[in-house]
Amino acid sequence: MTPDVTVVGGGAIGLAVAWRAAQRGLTTVVADPAPGTGATHAAAGMLAPITEVHYGEVPLLGLNLDSARRWPDFSAELETAADCSIGYRSEGTVAVAFDDDDVRALDALVQFQGQLDLPVERLGSRECRSLEPSLSPRVRGGALVTGDHQVEPRALTTALVRACDGVGVEFVRRAVTAVGPGPRVRLDGDDVLESRSVVVAAGWRSAALVDIPVRPVKGQILRLRGDVSSLLTRTVRGLSHGVSVYLVPRANGELVVGATVEERGADTTVTAGAVRELLDAAVDLVPGVSELEFSETSTGLRPGTPDNAPLLGRAPGEDDVWVATGHFRNGILLTPVTADVMADLVTGSDPPAIARSFDLERFA
Ligand SMILES: Cc1cc2nc3c(=O)[nH]c(=O)nc-3n(C[C@H](O)[C@H](O)[C@H](O)COP(=O)(O)OP(=O)(O)OC[C@H]3O[C@@H](n4cnc5c(N)ncnc54)[C@H](O)[C@@H]3O)c2cc1C
Repeated sequence: MTPDVTVVGGGAIGLAVAWRAAQRGLTTVVADPAPGTGATHAAAGMLAPITEVHYGEVPLLGLNLDSARRWPDFSAELETAADCSIGYRSEGTVAVAFDDDDVRALDALVQFQGQLDLPVERLGSRECRSLEPSLSPRVRGGALVTGDHQVEPRALTTALVRACDGVGVEFVRRAVTAVGPGPRVRLDGDDVLESRSVVVAAGWRSAALVDIPVRPVKGQILRLRGDVSSLLTRTVRGLSHGVSVYLVPRANGELVVGATVEERGADTTVTAGAVRELLDAAVDLVPGVSELEFSETSTGLRPGTPDNAPLLGRAPGEDDVWVATGHFRNGILLTPVTADVMADLVTGSDPPAIARSFDLERFA
């Protein structure tokens, strides 16, 4: 029987799209040689519409906030469907600054966030340390952002695969070498898989399958282990001597320290310089980090677009081929809204108005 939809790519985005599509009664296939091994595997899992707001990205903010609002229900529904935790935590985030220039940058950001009516509370050095006593006394000040949360991306993909299994999604563990013409994909080995529609959600590699402006943006990230719960209770993001770093504590004793943002094409080398820069900044802000065990370095390639916002819509020149990629720094945050929007599109329903600005027409 011809499936209703083939989703190309089983990262957070493709898996969530497949889950939602199957929940709406569509027979759904996910084609991916290794689901969950792309950028999602490297990601820190911050759900951070507020601390991630960047000058020039105000349209994206609305979509990020919309998806953040969907996260509590999405998480609860997924954990029930998959019968496992995805590590959703809502303790909030403290953004901190180490030296005078860092404080000036923080103040400018807090002012910008205030102009956008985002809930941010400016804190002095002592207030930061009363929230997180492990912060260095040299931290000059900060801001509390209760609305920025976190999830564990690796647990998220495990749960999504289980949830997909639960609603009958079929997994084809092979790479797609071509998409189209029309809703068909060519698999490695040259078989063709026909379906009624195709959703291309292969992260940065989507650009090899459809004509879209997506490029890989390298991110190096570290994982440490130890008594993390007595070190930090919430995510700390900060600037130290101009270097941006975040520390994301997990309940399982892992501390994620990230991340670089590098335009180096598809290079995935872990460099000594990046490891040193991230660790130096992390130890400046939270000296106790130096006592933790070093457990992992990794690199992920974010799917970047010219305006840093995702591509959610019809592929150029195709009626039944859709694209869901380009989520850049916010793919985990944007997973719930992307899944709902794409399920609307493939079932012929109207997506929420907020999603319309993110179709591919803007680069036509
Ligand atoms: C270091 C780092 C930290 C990050 N931190 C955060 C964060 O804190 N919060 C946040 O929201 N986002 C974060 N991101 C961004 C986030 O990881 C991405 O936006 C998101 O994972 C993109 O998901 P995806 O499913 O589109 O792509 P991917 O996770 O890359 O998945 C793509 C999938 O497609 C498959 N695939 C590729 N080519 C083919 C093919 N030809 N045929 C079949 N399958 C194919 C791959 O095997 C892979 O499974 C971070 C990214 C990095 C690199």
